[in-house]
Amino acid sequence: MSSYEQKELSIKKRIDEISRLIFEVANGNFDYKINLSDNDDELDGLIGGINMLGEELKASTVSKDFIESIYKGVVDTLVILRPDLSIERVNDAALKSLNYQANELENEPFRKIISDADYLILEAVRKTLIHEDNCHDIEINLQHKNGDYIPHSASFSILYDNHRNNLGIILIAKDITQQKQFENELLQAKERAEATNEAKSNFLANMSHEIRTPLNGILGFINLMMETSPSEVQQNYLRLIKVSGESLSKLLNDMLDLNKIEQQKLSLESLEFDFREKIITDLKPYKYLAEEKGIAFEIAVDEKIPKVLKGDPVRINQVIRNLVTNAVKFTNSGSIYVNFKVLKPTADNMVNIAVEVIDSGKGIPFQKQETIFESFTQADNSISREFGGSGLGLTIAKYMVELMKGNISVESPPVSKNRDQGSMFQFNMLLGVPEKPSLLSTTAVDPSKLKFESAHHVLIVDDNEINLTLTKKVLETLGATFQTAENGQEAVDMAKTYDFDLILMDVQMPVMNGWLATEYLRKMGYDKPIIALSANVYKEHIDKCLEVGMDAHMRKPFSKVDLFNIISKQLSLKS
Ligand code: ADP
Repeated sequence: MSSYEQKELSIKKRIDEISRLIFEVANGNFDYKINLSDNDDELDGLIGGINMLGEELKASTVSKDFIESIYKGVVDTLVILRPDLSIERVNDAALKSLNYQANELENEPFRKIISDADYLILEAVRKTLIHEDNCHDIEINLQHKNGDYIPHSASFSILYDNHRNNLGIILIAKDITQQKQFENELLQAKERAEATNEAKSNFLANMSHEIRTPLNGILGFINLMMETSPSEVQQNYLRLIKVSGESLSKLLNDMLDLNKIEQQKLSLESLEFDFREKIITDLKPYKYLAEEKGIAFEIAVDEKIPKVLKGDPVRINQVIRNLVTNAVKFTNSGSIYVNFKVLKPTADNMVNIAVEVIDSGKGIPFQKQETIFESFTQADNSISREFGGSGLGLTIAKYMVELMKGNISVESPPVSKNRDQGSMFQFNMLLGVPEKPSLLSTTAVDPSKLKFESAHHVLIVDDNEINLTLTKKVLETLGATFQTAENGQEAVDMAKTYDFDLILMDVQMPVMNGWLATEYLRKMGYDKPIIALSANVYKEHIDKCLEVGMDAHMRKPFSKVDLFNIISKQLSLKS
């Protein structure tokens, strides 16, 4: 065989080998290889090219498989949308959860499986995706083939090719049906709890009104009877009835306060008041009480405490009174010491006052010292039997002190004061110091000597006969004349007919309440003072009284002095 023929044969053989190589590669056998000859000729170039193509195909086909396996492995719904929002692909998990076949969804508009409202969300997402590569935790509802909507939490991201051309949107969505159910149950439970709470508050408000009304009658008449020179025995009985009535009144107020605290509706006033007159004077009765028990009672007031302060004197008194009442209650011998002092300098126009109430009484076991500030907690269970009380006082005190940006604590025994017996409660409060106090100083008066200087004719409006009689009696002793009305409607009619100097108006009444009656009177141009007389002392209640056109609000039960002062003030303002 000539060398030419030999060469031709070897070329033919290599072409056969190349054909085989192409066949194998075309059939996915990318590992099939043939060797290059030593000639480095065009056929070697071709073989090299096909080998390289095989390698590349192997690499790209494997990664395609890899992507496919990831695609199948995603357990959440996965949808690929084209830029026109038609569906390019959906994964098996999506098909299963929505109960569709692939051909029923692919190439269909995405609208087919979402509601109109959610389509709007999708439009918004698309706008967001212009600036950001992805959007997370968007709530959408995907529609099951049976028409039901299934809530999903979806994440969207833009699908780019290698040249950052936008190929569409990739959406991964998680079925959140269970989470939604849980949220709904929680919401319903919350709504039920709120409704129960609301019902409880309404019940408490109504009940307190119902209890307070007769209680005010009892307390008011006791005061009047005290002025009728009763015998010593009668005086003692009256005092006992008064103490019982007052504790009932305190319990009622505590329950209402606690309810307000629980609903976070308790707020403090910011009024100018004379610290010594309002706070220290209020402690005097406790001095007598302690001395009756044979206990010494001392009060020390730091001279640096300014005369006039800004805050809520009623609430401050409530806290101090609670601590002092407990000190008197739980001390049988020794002494009680109440100390007011100014703490280190604070911001301008503010003063930080510390109050210590130290007693030499039975003390509080260490392990109970934290819990006594919790509702309905007493240091030991025999206390309510022996001393009475509800265990609410300190809870309310703590809340009030915190509202005044202070802290309350107990030390028992008060070792820091070198005492080995008793308890020391201490708290501090931040109060305002007015630059130019506008407060007028008042002087103490003897109730039995009080009389109006000129004749006043008053309309008393109250649906409760006892309260009506009580107010009549007090006005009588003050030298005023009066007429009465039993509801707002009657009051309006009487105000049209008779000439009164002033109206004392109960708020909660049948037929027409005091607010409506006042509104009505003011609309028809009635300009005489109208004073609300009501047992409700919450800010929103008082505000409402002023809003409807009343001139002032007076708390029930009121004293003779209170009534005298408020009437005198209102009449002098209008004259
Ligand atoms: P209560 O109306 O029962 O007095 P408080 O909240 O005012 O409610 O007090 C809770 C409990 O703390 C009391 O029942 C008592 O056990 C204890 N306690 C409070 N103050 C004193 C004190 N000065 N000495 C001894 N125990 C006290």
